[in-house]
Amino acid sequence: MPSPLSFIRNDIQAMQAYQIADLPENFIKLDAMESPHHPFAHNPELLAQWQMLLGNAPIHLYPNPAASGLQSALRQAFGIPEAAQIALGNGSDELIQFLTMLVAKPGAKVLGVEPSFVMYRHNAALYGMEYIGVPLKEDFTLDLAAVLSAVQTHNPALIFLAYPNNPTGVCFKREEIEAVIAAAQGIVVVDEAYGAFNNDSFLTQAGSIENLVVMRTISKIGFAGLRIGYAAGSPMVMNELAKILPPYNMNQLSLASAKFAMQHAETINRTVSELKAERERMYAALSQISRLKTFPSQANFLTVRVPDALELFETLKQHRILIKKLHGTHPLLEQCVRITVGSPQQNDAVLAVIRKLYG
Ligand SMILES: *Cc1c(COP(=O)(O)O)cnc(C)c1O
Repeated sequence: MPSPLSFIRNDIQAMQAYQIADLPENFIKLDAMESPHHPFAHNPELLAQWQMLLGNAPIHLYPNPAASGLQSALRQAFGIPEAAQIALGNGSDELIQFLTMLVAKPGAKVLGVEPSFVMYRHNAALYGMEYIGVPLKEDFTLDLAAVLSAVQTHNPALIFLAYPNNPTGVCFKREEIEAVIAAAQGIVVVDEAYGAFNNDSFLTQAGSIENLVVMRTISKIGFAGLRIGYAAGSPMVMNELAKILPPYNMNQLSLASAKFAMQHAETINRTVSELKAERERMYAALSQISRLKTFPSQANFLTVRVPDALELFETLKQHRILIKKLHGTHPLLEQCVRITVGSPQQNDAVLAVIRKLYG
């Protein structure tokens, strides 16, 4: 008798599951761009209000994401234009999935740059689409000529550009993104997962350019555990996306918590300012060490080329610090690691280990 496995797609059987680090206690976790603080922990009054809100959330009822008030709270907090329509996702990961599903006609292609966020390629594969990965330049800036040429050749249905980019931290030039949007016939998703740490955004254009979708998340600004991402785009595209989003993809507790967070934007601003200041401090300190190459970052992490990425990864691990080893994932990332910016104390702990090894 054939095993159930024989019915499962061969390409999926050949894949590896996404590995989430399973950490012992007291580890400093700097591998996934999480915020070092619980967003309400510093303010007992805020914490109590939030707990009350959770207690009163109607968890016996299905959520109504559209009527939850979160969309208008997001509009207010981030200045999303009236012309833009918003979709909520269970993390922006889910929106990447549904945006890909939306365009997955036979023969249609997805285009991204390399290295970039791994989920773009992964979702293209899941929906049977060819993925065109255009390499970045050695300094992780955009090779605009190569991107435009690939857009011309392949006419991709969907283009993903992370602005700033992950795992490199570098932000491409606004004019370059604009040139890609203008050249593309398909949908261009500007993924601003790190938008809060950057000085520029495409959110103000959302809704007024037909093929632009700006995607954001609250994961990197203190709320990774809530799983809330959102996309803002033209009604033409967003109306179609609305047809395939599961009606109850968001949960009551997350919706209520995120809305509460938006109404207390100072909690977010506090985290963002601290992390931006720490990023600059870390960048300056690491740039002092001549054996390292620290790439400029507009995100809440730093990508660094070190003499031996595995050695640094293992040494930090012995000091109960987890970072991301990028070496081996793409040729341009040779001997690179990615370090999430943490609290001042956590960053000092990282610096101490690095100075001892390479200072
Ligand atoms: C972290 C990240 C995401 C995913 O965010 P979630 O909302 O937590 O799913 C999307 N895009 C990029 C570039 C990221 O780094």
